[in-house]
Amino acid sequence: MHHDVIVLGAGLAGLSAARDLAAAGTDVLVLEARDRVGGRVEQTRTPDGRFVQLGGEVVGRAHTAYLQLAKELGLELVPSYVAEPGRMTRATPEGSSADDPPHWFGPGDAALHERLGAEFGALAATVDPDDPWSHPDGSALDRLSVADWLRSRQASPAVVRLWEIGQLALAGGSYERISLLAALRKSAAVPGSGKGDYDYDDWEGLRLADGSATLAEVMGRELGPHIRLGSPVAALDIRPTAAPYAWSPARSSRRRLW
Ligand SMILES: Cc1cc2nc3c(=O)[nH]c(=O)nc-3n(C[C@H](O)[C@H](O)[C@H](O)COP(=O)(O)OP(=O)(O)OC[C@H]3O[C@@H](n4cnc5c(N)ncnc54)[C@H](O)[C@@H]3O)c2cc1C
Repeated sequence: MHHDVIVLGAGLAGLSAARDLAAAGTDVLVLEARDRVGGRVEQTRTPDGRFVQLGGEVVGRAHTAYLQLAKELGLELVPSYVAEPGRMTRATPEGSSADDPPHWFGPGDAALHERLGAEFGALAATVDPDDPWSHPDGSALDRLSVADWLRSRQASPAVVRLWEIGQLALAGGSYERISLLAALRKSAAVPGSGKGDYDYDDWEGLRLADGSATLAEVMGRELGPHIRLGSPVAALDIRPTAAPYAWSPARSSRRRLW
């Protein structure tokens, strides 16, 4: 198999990378294990024709790359939610509560949560979202999970639980496994989020009118024969010298990828 670049996975990341590469004239091939594009973004239709999202759905005005991509693909964005006001409600096996503080908080937890939010925001302000590895402590921040960082700052289990529930609600993975540097970078990329506020317009005020999976489907159609579905990659053979190669900035070496 001889191509300039092989992209593994036809999720939004792989598809948009392959799209950029193809537009630059690169001979790119996307290998996707499943029999469809989109990865964690997927939709189906009800018998009466309505879309149902089975994965990633909403975006916000802070997702500038996504918004630009949707524009380039000619896809329309509409507000995610109806105008009716609502309240944040947390339901857990032992009870539920609306607004703050959550029902599992004890004395001191609210102040602790606020302090840690401010500390997180201050730390995020030291990270360049366009070049997070330029941070002098980049490697150390990356080795630490967000949950471990919280515990290292004396967070109570109740506070860790609130951060974790918020994160799991986004279906992006547990804070027990997400690197602190990655979370700081994400926060630094959105003006205002460093203050600890969750702005719905920044993060989830918009969705695609025709269903969010259309973004992947349109990119998939554009890439056409550059995608091979049903092709799980079982192993990578990485050799340091032989061509063809891909540039690996992390180690400043040329690495054979297939
Ligand atoms: C229920 C749910 C709701 C969500 N809601 C939102 C939301 O509203 N807004 C939002 O922004 N995000 C949301 N997300 C998160 C969002 O969907 C993901 O962050 C995003 O789709 C990830 O894209 P990706 O391309 O990085 O990875 P993925 O979509 O996971 O794509 C990876 C692709 O690689 C393929 N692959 C993996 N291993 C191999 C292999 N060995 N060989 C070949 N192919 C392989 C997979 O099959 C997959 O297609 C949600 C996720 C879920 C599950």
